[in-house]
Amino acid sequence: MNFASSVAEALDAVCRNILEAQKKSGRKQGVQVVAVTKNVGMEKMREAIEAGLSSFGENRVQEALPKIEAIGKKVSWRMVGHLQSNKVKKAVEYFDAIDSVDSFGLAAEISKAAKAKNRIMPVLLEVNTSGEPSKYGLSPEKTLEEAEKIAGLENLSVDGLMTVGPLANEEKKLRAAFARLRQLFEEIEQKKIFGLLFRHLSMGMSADYPMAVEEGATMVRLGTAIFGPRTQNIENPSASSGFIPRQASG
Ligand SMILES: *Cc1c(COP(=O)(O)O)cnc(C)c1O
Repeated sequence: MNFASSVAEALDAVCRNILEAQKKSGRKQGVQVVAVTKNVGMEKMREAIEAGLSSFGENRVQEALPKIEAIGKKVSWRMVGHLQSNKVKKAVEYFDAIDSVDSFGLAAEISKAAKAKNRIMPVLLEVNTSGEPSKYGLSPEKTLEEAEKIAGLENLSVDGLMTVGPLANEEKKLRAAFARLRQLFEEIEQKKIFGLLFRHLSMGMSADYPMAVEEGATMVRLGTAIFGPRTQNIENPSASSGFIPRQASG
Protein backbone atom coordinates (compact mmCIF):
# COMPACT_ATOMS: atom_id res chain seq x y z
CA MET A 1 0.00 0.00 0.00
CA ASN A 2 1.09 3.56 -0.67
CA PHE A 3 0.25 6.04 2.02
CA ALA A 4 -1.08 9.50 1.29
CA SER A 5 0.38 12.44 3.15
CA SER A 6 -2.97 13.67 4.45
CA VAL A 7 -6.22 12.15 5.60
CA ALA A 8 -8.10 14.10 2.89
CA GLU A 9 -5.87 12.67 0.16
CA ALA A 10 -6.23 9.17 1.54
CA LEU A 11 -9.99 9.53 1.69
CA ASP A 12 -10.01 10.72 -1.89
CA ALA A 13 -8.23 7.55 -2.99
CA VAL A 14 -10.62 5.43 -0.91
CA CYS A 15 -13.65 7.02 -2.58
CA ARG A 16 -12.18 6.45 -6.03
CA ASN A 17 -11.51 2.81 -5.20
CA ILE A 18 -15.06 2.34 -3.94
CA LEU A 19 -16.52 3.85 -7.11
CA GLU A 20 -14.29 1.70 -9.25
CA ALA A 21 -15.33 -1.45 -7.37
CA GLN A 22 -18.98 -0.55 -7.89
CA LYS A 23 -18.41 0.04 -11.59
CA LYS A 24 -16.67 -3.32 -11.87
CA SER A 25 -19.41 -5.24 -10.10
CA GLY A 26 -22.40 -3.27 -11.38
CA ARG A 27 -23.63 -2.75 -7.82
CA LYS A 28 -24.97 0.64 -6.86
CA GLN A 29 -25.37 0.35 -3.11
CA GLY A 30 -24.45 3.31 -0.92
CA VAL A 31 -21.18 2.69 0.91
CA GLN A 32 -20.49 4.31 4.27
CA VAL A 33 -16.86 4.72 5.32
CA VAL A 34 -16.27 4.04 8.99
CA ALA A 35 -12.88 5.48 9.99
CA VAL A 36 -11.34 3.05 12.46
CA THR A 37 -9.41 5.21 14.89
CA LYS A 38 -7.81 2.76 17.30
CA ASN A 39 -4.34 4.05 18.13
CA VAL A 40 -5.08 7.23 16.21
CA GLY A 41 -4.38 10.42 18.13
CA MET A 42 -6.61 13.49 18.48
CA GLU A 43 -4.83 15.57 15.86
CA LYS A 44 -5.43 13.03 13.13
CA MET A 45 -8.98 12.50 14.31
CA ARG A 46 -9.65 16.21 13.93
CA GLU A 47 -8.09 16.07 10.47
CA ALA A 48 -10.48 13.24 9.63
CA ILE A 49 -13.48 15.32 10.69
CA GLU A 50 -12.22 18.23 8.55
CA ALA A 51 -11.92 15.85 5.61
CA GLY A 52 -15.60 15.04 6.01
CA LEU A 53 -15.56 11.74 7.88
CA SER A 54 -18.46 11.47 10.28
CA SER A 55 -18.44 7.88 11.44
CA PHE A 56 -15.67 6.57 13.70
CA GLY A 57 -14.99 2.99 14.76
CA GLU A 58 -13.14 2.04 17.92
CA ASN A 59 -12.38 -1.45 19.14
CA ARG A 60 -11.79 -0.77 22.83
CA VAL A 61 -14.19 0.97 25.16
CA GLN A 62 -11.39 2.31 27.34
CA GLU A 63 -9.54 3.93 24.47
CA ALA A 64 -12.74 5.31 22.98
CA LEU A 65 -14.29 7.05 26.01
CA PRO A 66 -11.87 9.99 26.29
CA LYS A 67 -12.06 10.54 22.53
CA ILE A 68 -15.86 10.50 22.58
CA GLU A 69 -15.81 12.93 25.48
CA ALA A 70 -13.38 15.26 23.71
CA ILE A 71 -14.97 15.21 20.25
CA GLY A 72 -18.57 14.64 21.21
CA LYS A 73 -21.56 13.69 19.14
CA LYS A 74 -20.98 15.74 16.03
CA VAL A 75 -19.77 12.41 14.63
CA SER A 76 -21.13 8.95 15.26
CA TRP A 77 -19.24 6.30 17.20
CA ARG A 78 -19.30 2.62 16.42
CA MET A 79 -17.88 -0.11 18.63
CA VAL A 80 -16.26 -2.55 16.19
CA GLY A 81 -14.18 -4.77 18.51
CA HIS A 82 -15.18 -7.66 20.75
CA LEU A 83 -17.18 -6.32 23.68
CA GLN A 84 -16.64 -7.79 27.14
CA SER A 85 -19.62 -8.12 29.48
CA ASN A 86 -18.21 -5.73 32.05
CA LYS A 87 -18.01 -2.95 29.42
CA VAL A 88 -21.54 -3.31 28.06
CA LYS A 89 -23.07 -0.53 30.15
CA LYS A 90 -20.40 1.98 29.17
CA ALA A 91 -20.63 0.94 25.52
CA VAL A 92 -24.40 1.46 25.50
CA GLU A 93 -23.95 4.81 27.18
CA TYR A 94 -21.25 6.17 24.87
CA PHE A 95 -21.53 4.52 21.48
CA ASP A 96 -24.11 5.11 18.75
CA ALA A 97 -23.89 1.53 17.52
CA ILE A 98 -22.30 -1.78 18.48
CA ASP A 99 -21.16 -3.64 15.37
CA SER A 100 -19.69 -6.67 17.10
CA VAL A 101 -22.59 -8.61 18.65
CA ASP A 102 -21.12 -12.09 18.52
CA SER A 103 -23.40 -14.09 20.83
CA PHE A 104 -26.97 -14.24 22.07
CA GLY A 105 -25.65 -13.65 25.60
CA LEU A 106 -23.99 -10.38 24.61
CA ALA A 107 -27.11 -9.28 22.72
CA ALA A 108 -29.18 -9.97 25.85
CA GLU A 109 -26.83 -7.90 28.01
CA ILE A 110 -26.90 -5.01 25.57
CA SER A 111 -30.68 -5.24 25.47
CA LYS A 112 -30.85 -5.07 29.25
CA ALA A 113 -28.45 -2.12 29.48
CA ALA A 114 -30.30 -0.27 26.71
CA LYS A 115 -33.60 -0.80 28.48
CA ALA A 116 -32.17 0.61 31.71
CA LYS A 117 -31.02 3.68 29.76
CA ASN A 118 -34.38 3.91 28.02
CA ARG A 119 -32.85 3.73 24.56
CA ILE A 120 -32.92 1.53 21.50
CA MET A 121 -29.39 0.38 20.72
CA PRO A 122 -28.47 -0.06 17.04
CA VAL A 123 -26.33 -3.18 16.55
CA LEU A 124 -24.87 -5.42 13.87
CA LEU A 125 -24.44 -9.16 14.29
CA GLU A 126 -20.87 -10.29 13.76
CA VAL A 127 -20.39 -13.52 11.83
CA ASN A 128 -17.15 -15.49 11.74
CA THR A 129 -17.23 -16.17 8.00
CA SER A 130 -13.65 -17.44 7.84
CA GLY A 131 -14.02 -20.00 10.62
CA GLU A 132 -10.63 -18.89 11.99
CA PRO A 133 -10.57 -19.77 15.71
CA SER A 134 -8.89 -16.45 16.59
CA LYS A 135 -11.90 -14.54 15.31
CA TYR A 136 -15.09 -13.64 17.10
CA GLY A 137 -18.52 -14.05 15.61
CA LEU A 138 -21.52 -16.29 15.25
CA SER A 139 -20.84 -19.37 13.18
CA PRO A 140 -22.45 -19.02 9.75
CA GLU A 141 -24.41 -22.26 10.29
CA LYS A 142 -25.98 -20.91 13.46
CA THR A 143 -26.51 -17.31 12.43
CA LEU A 144 -30.12 -17.71 11.29
CA GLU A 145 -31.14 -19.51 14.46
CA GLU A 146 -29.35 -16.98 16.69
CA ALA A 147 -30.86 -14.09 14.73
CA GLU A 148 -34.33 -15.45 15.43
CA LYS A 149 -33.56 -15.61 19.16
CA ILE A 150 -32.01 -12.12 19.17
CA ALA A 151 -35.07 -10.74 17.38
CA GLY A 152 -37.04 -11.50 20.54
CA LEU A 153 -34.95 -9.10 22.64
CA GLU A 154 -36.20 -5.63 23.52
CA ASN A 155 -34.47 -2.27 22.97
CA LEU A 156 -32.23 -3.53 20.14
CA SER A 157 -32.33 -2.46 16.53
CA VAL A 158 -30.51 -5.09 14.51
CA ASP A 159 -29.40 -3.13 11.46
CA GLY A 160 -27.29 -5.68 9.63
CA LEU A 161 -24.33 -8.04 9.67
CA MET A 162 -20.60 -7.56 10.10
CA THR A 163 -17.58 -9.73 9.42
CA VAL A 164 -13.80 -9.56 9.57
CA GLY A 165 -12.46 -11.31 6.47
CA PRO A 166 -9.88 -14.10 6.62
CA LEU A 167 -6.27 -13.11 7.25
CA ALA A 168 -5.16 -14.92 4.09
CA ASN A 169 -4.47 -12.51 1.30
CA GLU A 170 -6.11 -14.94 -1.07
CA GLU A 171 -8.76 -13.37 -3.21
CA LYS A 172 -10.80 -16.56 -3.46
CA LYS A 173 -11.05 -17.00 0.31
CA LEU A 174 -11.84 -13.35 0.91
CA ARG A 175 -14.56 -13.27 -1.72
CA ALA A 176 -16.07 -16.49 -0.38
CA ALA A 177 -16.27 -14.99 3.12
CA PHE A 178 -17.88 -11.77 1.90
CA ALA A 179 -20.29 -13.64 -0.35
CA ARG A 180 -21.27 -15.87 2.57
CA LEU A 181 -22.13 -12.83 4.68
CA ARG A 182 -24.23 -11.40 1.85
CA GLN A 183 -26.03 -14.71 1.46
CA LEU A 184 -26.84 -14.83 5.18
CA PHE A 185 -28.02 -11.24 4.99
CA GLU A 186 -30.40 -12.11 2.14
CA GLU A 187 -31.77 -15.12 4.01
CA ILE A 188 -32.48 -13.05 7.11
CA GLU A 189 -34.04 -10.34 4.97
CA GLN A 190 -36.30 -12.80 3.16
CA LYS A 191 -37.47 -14.30 6.43
CA LYS A 192 -38.20 -10.78 7.71
CA ILE A 193 -36.54 -11.57 11.03
CA PHE A 194 -35.72 -7.92 11.66
CA GLY A 195 -37.42 -4.69 10.59
CA LEU A 196 -36.76 -2.40 7.69
CA LEU A 197 -33.62 -1.00 9.31
CA PHE A 198 -31.88 -4.31 8.61
CA ARG A 199 -29.83 -2.96 5.72
CA HIS A 200 -26.10 -3.03 6.45
CA LEU A 201 -23.32 -5.32 5.41
CA SER A 202 -20.21 -4.14 7.24
CA MET A 203 -17.31 -5.90 5.55
CA GLY A 204 -13.97 -4.90 4.13
CA MET A 205 -10.93 -3.38 5.82
CA SER A 206 -7.94 -1.54 4.32
CA ALA A 207 -6.46 -4.59 2.62
CA ASP A 208 -9.66 -5.92 1.09
CA TYR A 209 -12.42 -3.29 0.93
CA PRO A 210 -12.61 -2.98 -2.89
CA MET A 211 -13.39 -6.69 -3.02
CA ALA A 212 -15.93 -6.37 -0.22
CA VAL A 213 -17.68 -3.54 -2.08
CA GLU A 214 -17.79 -5.71 -5.18
CA GLU A 215 -19.49 -8.36 -3.04
CA GLY A 216 -22.08 -5.92 -1.71
CA ALA A 217 -20.63 -4.12 1.36
CA THR A 218 -22.64 -1.07 2.47
CA MET A 219 -20.11 -0.18 5.17
CA VAL A 220 -16.33 -0.50 5.10
CA ARG A 221 -14.14 -0.17 8.19
CA LEU A 222 -10.87 1.53 7.34
CA GLY A 223 -7.94 2.31 9.58
CA THR A 224 -4.64 2.00 7.73
CA ALA A 225 -6.03 3.15 4.37
CA ILE A 226 -7.02 6.46 5.93
CA PHE A 227 -4.49 7.08 8.70
CA GLY A 228 -1.44 5.16 7.51
CA PRO A 229 0.28 2.32 9.38
CA ARG A 230 -0.84 2.20 13.01
CA THR A 231 2.69 2.18 14.44
CA GLN A 232 3.06 5.79 13.28
CA ASN A 233 -0.05 6.86 15.10
CA ILE A 234 0.71 5.43 18.47
CA GLU A 235 0.96 8.03 21.18
CA ASN A 236 1.24 5.58 24.02
CA PRO A 237 3.03 2.46 22.77
CA SER A 238 2.43 0.50 25.97
CA ALA A 239 -1.33 0.70 25.41
CA SER A 240 -1.11 -0.52 21.86
CA SER A 241 -1.41 -3.90 20.25
CA GLY A 242 -0.28 -2.73 16.80
CA PHE A 243 -1.41 -4.96 13.99
CA ILE A 244 -1.64 -8.32 15.75
CA PRO A 245 -4.04 -9.63 16.90
CA ARG A 246 -6.21 -8.30 14.16
CA GLN A 247 -9.22 -8.11 16.38
CA ALA A 248 -8.38 -6.93 19.86
CA SER A 249 -10.74 -7.08 22.81
CA GLY A 250 -12.32 -4.17 24.49
C1 LIG B 1 -8.65 -2.34 13.21
C2 LIG B 1 -9.93 -2.78 12.66
C3 LIG B 1 -10.33 -2.39 11.37
C4 LIG B 1 -9.48 -1.55 10.45
O1 LIG B 1 -8.30 -2.22 10.09
P1 LIG B 1 -7.39 -1.71 8.88
O2 LIG B 1 -6.81 -2.95 8.32
O3 LIG B 1 -6.36 -0.81 9.47
O4 LIG B 1 -8.24 -1.00 7.91
C5 LIG B 1 -11.57 -2.83 10.93
N1 LIG B 1 -12.37 -3.59 11.69
C6 LIG B 1 -12.02 -3.98 12.93
C7 LIG B 1 -12.96 -4.82 13.71
C8 LIG B 1 -10.80 -3.59 13.45
O5 LIG B 1 -10.46 -3.98 14.69
